[in-house]
Amino acid sequence: MATKSKSQKYVYSFGGGKADGNESMKNLLGGKGANLAEMAGHKDLKLPVPPGFTLTTEVCTYFYAHGRTYPEDLEKQIANALSEIEKLMGKKFGDVKDPLLISVRSGARKSMPGMMDTVLNIGLNDETVKGLIQTTGDERFAYDAYRRLVMMYADVVIEKAGGLEPVKGVGIRKLMEEKLQSLKKERDVKLDTELSAADLKKLVKEFKSMTKKFLKVEFPEKPWDQLIGAIGAVFGSWNGKRALEYRKIEKIPDDWGTAVNVQAMVFGNMGNDSCTGVGFTRNPGNGDHHFYGEYLVNAQGEDVVAGTRTPAPVNDFSKNDHSRDLMTLQKFMPQQFKELDSMQKKLEIHYRDMQDIEFTIEKGKLYMLQCRVGKRNGVAAVKIAADMYRENLIDADTAVMRVAPNQLLELLLPMIDPDAEKISKVIAKGLPAGPGGAVGRAVFSSEDAAEWASRGEKVILVREETSPEDVDGMHKAEAILSSKGGMTSHAALVARGWGKCCIVGCSEIDIVAKEKMLITASGKTVHEGDWISLNGTTGFVYEGAVPLKATDLHQNKSYRTFMKLVDKTRTMGVRTNADTPEDAEQALYFGAEGIGLFRTEHMFYGEGSEFPLFLLRKMIMAGNNEDRKTALDELSVFVKKDIRDTLEVMQGNSVTIRLLDPPLHEFVPHDRAKLQVLAKELGVSLGILNRRVLALHENNPMLGHRGVRLGISYPEITEMQVRAILEAAGELIKAGKKTKPEIMVPVTVDVQELRHQKDIVDRVYRETCKKLKIDKIPYLYGTMIETPRAALKGASMAKSADFFSFGTNDLTQMCFGFSRDDIGGFLPKYIELKLLPNDPFATLDQTGVGELMKIGIERGRSQKPKLEVGICGEHGGDAESVKFCHRLGMDYVSCSPFRIPVARLAAAQAVIEDRK
Ligand code: ADP
Ligand code: MG
Ligand code: MG
Repeated sequence: MATKSKSQKYVYSFGGGKADGNESMKNLLGGKGANLAEMAGHKDLKLPVPPGFTLTTEVCTYFYAHGRTYPEDLEKQIANALSEIEKLMGKKFGDVKDPLLISVRSGARKSMPGMMDTVLNIGLNDETVKGLIQTTGDERFAYDAYRRLVMMYADVVIEKAGGLEPVKGVGIRKLMEEKLQSLKKERDVKLDTELSAADLKKLVKEFKSMTKKFLKVEFPEKPWDQLIGAIGAVFGSWNGKRALEYRKIEKIPDDWGTAVNVQAMVFGNMGNDSCTGVGFTRNPGNGDHHFYGEYLVNAQGEDVVAGTRTPAPVNDFSKNDHSRDLMTLQKFMPQQFKELDSMQKKLEIHYRDMQDIEFTIEKGKLYMLQCRVGKRNGVAAVKIAADMYRENLIDADTAVMRVAPNQLLELLLPMIDPDAEKISKVIAKGLPAGPGGAVGRAVFSSEDAAEWASRGEKVILVREETSPEDVDGMHKAEAILSSKGGMTSHAALVARGWGKCCIVGCSEIDIVAKEKMLITASGKTVHEGDWISLNGTTGFVYEGAVPLKATDLHQNKSYRTFMKLVDKTRTMGVRTNADTPEDAEQALYFGAEGIGLFRTEHMFYGEGSEFPLFLLRKMIMAGNNEDRKTALDELSVFVKKDIRDTLEVMQGNSVTIRLLDPPLHEFVPHDRAKLQVLAKELGVSLGILNRRVLALHENNPMLGHRGVRLGISYPEITEMQVRAILEAAGELIKAGKKTKPEIMVPVTVDVQELRHQKDIVDRVYRETCKKLKIDKIPYLYGTMIETPRAALKGASMAKSADFFSFGTNDLTQMCFGFSRDDIGGFLPKYIELKLLPNDPFATLDQTGVGELMKIGIERGRSQKPKLEVGICGEHGGDAESVKFCHRLGMDYVSCSPFRIPVARLAAAQAVIEDRK
């Protein structure tokens, strides 16, 4: 099939049981083109794919590199490939007797749902339409195809790709749709399919004159011009606003470019023995192993997604409340359904993954129009991975790689609290596009959603249906609710990709104005800003803010199977950051193997902290060592209890306890009234107290009197804490329990600090063993590495440390010299200008901060090969950072309880990626 010219091959054909390309050529052919080639040409498949060809992504790259022009002989290559389609179809493009019609479809490497536009029925004009009527004997069909072409062409090619401002602020498509609606009203019909041939013919004429009037461009009559125009529009739309936005969110590189597919049309709108549909080889909402899909009789592709008519289910498994009474494809066309069913099975086995497919039946004959790996939410991803592993379709490594670490968060997503749900008022019901529950204030436009969210409001975006223009607002909303559209609508697809709660096709709501919607069943009105709640698993919409509740993970059998594979694969430990026995308990539930960071100061914050805080203040405000000691003795009772309880909950797993870290001024009140109360309680004058508070003031407290510096200035503070830790551990051991405390010294810069503190630890250790009459209390002594100097001095630091734990929050702060609390002023600009790829406090800066970590570990282990190394900053729960920690050879990461499953999975994936 190769073109004769010696120049570069830009065009790849497929069809007639053959293909130039295949599935592995996604970078060149885009996802759609590569899979069309695979379906058409692979020996195990050879599915009925309408013939066509793909213009490669290299054409797109060329197009942008050369001032939006094409390679010299491209048109020739196109003409050659087109004539191959003509041969296979036995029709000619532009023929007035029996015209070949084609579609022009975009297809980037990674699927970008709805981002790029497709034009169908290219090749129709006032002459060829007559031929189409002749050969099909169906005037209505011919004009239906024609009016679609004019609308799509005006919208996609002329207006959008031409970069024109939307006509009348809404765009030409909307105006044309309004025209269609008003004609239907005039004719007193409900469905497009009820319009007559004459009506549609009239629409074609009107659409054309609207194109001329509003866009100042004639609809091109010449088929070749239509083709070239449409191809240019697809390439042009790669840099359209919507595509750029989506790529930004999904981090798809701008220079990938898109491919363009040109393909012979097949018609699902050729009457009542024709239809079009979409499906998934398994349910993308919950992972159930059943073919799941929807179809529309007498319709063309986009009708299914557009949600203008309610699609019917392909089989009983695909029924929902809206489509329950509609005829399934299985009943309607049993033979074709059987074929379709066997094709979808074949495809899943071939690709060994859940597939998302598009098909069309033209006058009883089935065609496959697309397949790709199907998007699924986290719940479905876990179930499908576990099931396919059990079915021997994939191996353990593949299963582990099939779920994105963050998708696991969806399994932990709160649900609407079932008890509260029982007594809440359902105001409407739609299709459950899942997952989880959401609560927020109703807003009715994407801009409002983005704007409200930027003020910190939780919002639910309510739309008739969503389109790619809405992605920004959709991204920022808690959830999405649409009155139209099915499970395969834009809203459902995009929400599924993000794991966001979503309900679609909620026909009981009617958005009557920009700021309110009507609940048709009850006549109730929900105004902008009113609270509503969604259950994305059932499709129920509730009035007001219904409380949310955590889900019970361990009930989920697939999760258990999946995590077993994960834990078998990973080599790095996962601990948690926990400050209370309750947090620790929660973390164990999520699979924590220890505590990597227990902050002693936690007991001075929040509920129940009044008395310990008072004692701490008494200690801070003490005028002399004697007073400070007395206060510390009183305080130690609380510290010890807190630590003992936590050690006990962790049942012998390591617990890393950090000695007091924050600067002391953080614990004293600063307003006069509170100071007065404290003065009274302490029995000192306000004047004296004021002077002591003032003395604590620092210009730069983050770099001030904190961390180990406190322990150097006030050794008695270290002593009290160490005694509490060792006594708590000793008492547990005496009670026959296992325990493994690790004493961690914060904000160190030199081994001399560690030695200074270690002397205290050694002394207290001896005293405690004697007091409790035991020989041994197992414990480790180590330090947090959170200053660049500590990392650089890793070799000497390791002389007095059994372990290092990287405190990457402070380490990032000090490595960059960015104050953690003040980045808001400048970091957003850095990211916008791409001066930095992302917020280094959220995603570990691997080449800068990471380099310091690498140095610290290497030097530390050179001194002490068995040095235990972990990380306890926020980054311990970020999947990419976890993988980096694995590559650095760390023993464990530590993160907040909810991120533990994410960290476990990321650690396992790092092992597999390493092997490759
Ligand atoms: P998207 O990437 O938005 O899914 P597609 O290129 O898949 O865009 O096309 C949009 C719709 O048009 C789909 O439903 C598709 O099945 C249908 N379609 C595309 N090409 C053809 C064709 N040659 N014949 C019939 N329907 C088509
Ligand atoms: Mg498609
Ligand atoms: Mg710190």
